[in-house]
Amino acid sequence: MRIVLVGPPGAGKGTQAAYLAKNLSIPHISTGDLFRANISQGTELGKQAKAFMDAGDLVPDEVTIAMAEDRLDQADAAEGFLLDGFPRNVNQAQALDAYLERNGISLDGVLDLEVPEAEVVKRIAGRRICRNRSAHVFHIEYKKPKVDGVCDECGGELYQRDDDTEATVRNRLEVYHRETEPIIDYYKRQDLVVTISALGPVPEVTQRAMDALRRTEE
Ligand code: AMP
Repeated sequence: MRIVLVGPPGAGKGTQAAYLAKNLSIPHISTGDLFRANISQGTELGKQAKAFMDAGDLVPDEVTIAMAEDRLDQADAAEGFLLDGFPRNVNQAQALDAYLERNGISLDGVLDLEVPEAEVVKRIAGRRICRNRSAHVFHIEYKKPKVDGVCDECGGELYQRDDDTEATVRNRLEVYHRETEPIIDYYKRQDLVVTISALGPVPEVTQRAMDALRRTEE
């Protein structure tokens, strides 16, 4: 399956993407994770992206699209993928469509995770992420690690993202409404969108998502 995941910051895209990708045996491709990996490795790309990310702004399309296409070109994505955080504006969605068309493939569905704005801020403020490449996501209230500050999956150190502060979150939400929400209409015109509520326990949301994605296959 080829899927795009959309939703505001704090909707649980990363968490759900990890479970869904595992269930569907497809790679989870997160442009945010790719940028963060570049930053921690000190690459030129990471240096270019960091200031935009810290402010909660979008990294310029040229850089982002090239990085996403590079990742999609890798062998493990040949049979399917779950895109998390890309595309994030209509220009990126058009670039993705052009890429898919060049490769003779198409999307199976766009999963839209809905969550009320008040919940978003609460979720983001308590979010903690593993420093290791797996980038597992925890929450100090909703998904506590067994040992404070330590990843259950790999023992890595948990940290709070630089862009998870309240001021940045507010800007990321604005950017989401202005830039990213329009892609939902863009994909509705292609009849690809399934919307589910992202509220409730993580496994329930995953089940809801799996059911919704199955319906796109029918
Ligand atoms: P995320 O982990 O998806 O919340 O992304 C974190 C940050 O990385 C965003 O706030 C942006 O600054 C940047 N970013 C991730 N994906 C994209 C994208 N598709 N286009 C532009 N910037 C992005």
